[in-house]
Amino acid sequence: MKDLLVMKFGGTSVGSAERMRIAARLAAEEAAKRPVVVVVSAMSKITDILLATMRHAEAGDRAGIEANLTALRARHDEACRELLPEARQPAVLAKIARLIDDFERIVNGMAMLGERPPRSIDEAVAVGERLSVMLVAEHLNAEGVRAAAVNAQDVVVTDAVFGNASPLMEPTREKARAHLLPLLGQGVLPVITGFNGATADGRPTTLGRGGSDFSASILAAALDASELWIWTDVDGIMSADPRLVPDADVLAEVTYAEAAELAYNGAKVLHPKTLAPLAEKKIPVWSKNSFAPEKPGTRIVPAIAVQNGTRAVTSMGNVAMVSLEPASPELNGVQVMARALDAVARADVEVLLFSSSSYRQNFCFLVRQEELERSVRALESALALELAHKYLYPIAVDRDVGLLAAVGEGMQGKPGLAGRIFTAISRVNVNIIAIAQGSSELTIAVVVRRDGLEKAVRAVHAECGLGRAHAAAQH
Ligand code: ASP
Ligand code: MG
Repeated sequence: MKDLLVMKFGGTSVGSAERMRIAARLAAEEAAKRPVVVVVSAMSKITDILLATMRHAEAGDRAGIEANLTALRARHDEACRELLPEARQPAVLAKIARLIDDFERIVNGMAMLGERPPRSIDEAVAVGERLSVMLVAEHLNAEGVRAAAVNAQDVVVTDAVFGNASPLMEPTREKARAHLLPLLGQGVLPVITGFNGATADGRPTTLGRGGSDFSASILAAALDASELWIWTDVDGIMSADPRLVPDADVLAEVTYAEAAELAYNGAKVLHPKTLAPLAEKKIPVWSKNSFAPEKPGTRIVPAIAVQNGTRAVTSMGNVAMVSLEPASPELNGVQVMARALDAVARADVEVLLFSSSSYRQNFCFLVRQEELERSVRALESALALELAHKYLYPIAVDRDVGLLAAVGEGMQGKPGLAGRIFTAISRVNVNIIAIAQGSSELTIAVVVRRDGLEKAVRAVHAECGLGRAHAAAQH
């Protein structure tokens, strides 16, 4: 649709009545000028509470369930009372009660079974977004802006991978057009849940934690939007995590590929899958701060004409390195690698970095610490025979590591850059444990000792000429 703007508000941007009021105003201002679709996350922390409640149910912890239900009701009731005119409150409080009752029914079922079926989790957890969408739409209507709450279950069609579903773009396109274009045509602002969808036969799904960004880009692509704005609580994509690097700067512009690499390597501002649906239509994205909307934010575009070397340095601390090494020359190392990776992939573990040396064919890979136990169990069962017969050395695990990644399209074909990065790290006396550079040359990833991670990030950030001090020196 011509001129269509899709806007997504994250959890902190709708975290209270005050924040919802600001989000609604930002949406209404644009909707006065052009067609707008709003995508909303659950209020901050609500998804965590919903998921924890279901874990309590599985464990049979009644008190835990009740405490969380009380917290859920209190938070949304309070937002409703602060947000809406008194006359409208009873009806909306009743809607909140009904949605939380729906959630409670599923939770009670889980408590009875002592089990949390993935598809029931997906149905139940989407209540967080249904609540926030309902409140934002009610508030817009109360302010005289015609708005309609929409459940993405009726719009976003996905595969059946519960908890981490992928969109099916063709049917989503059809449904998005059928549901949303008529609303826009009547001058109604659709406010739609992020995070959730449903299979073609109607079973509820979710797109993975933090998936509302992905929802927004799926809808932007499905509706041929002209722009996507993602509202968060930071000023945009930064050259490094400002808590580690005080000199970190907001980047005015990055490419899709850079933004995706940064997200995959630990930058939290955007869900890593967000850019994929936009690639074909080349829809530009803005990452903006709803707490400082006057700031320009970061523009994310398919390509940038002038490339400047490294754009940003990211890091991840909560990771672990898993190493495997054949103990017998009879073992085909490449086959072991293939089976090991297959095993962790089946366990739904994300491999953050992989490195191998042909000498003795040992190899190592990096995973998130919360996925470590699952990875090791998967490897132990897939390679049980080799381990039992000592064809393989015991699986080695090192939790005392961190990942640093330097990202930038302009790093391609720049000789000496890797050397400078490694030298900068060794100059601050941090030991390098493993390195990887994809053939795209977009990212140089380095695994270092955990206690040296922050120091290494600062050193590489400075070495690559990033940050405000450097930007000031150039002008
Ligand atoms: N509410 C969901 C989550 O916390 C989705 C999102 O915030 O993007 O994971
Ligand atoms: Mg989020």
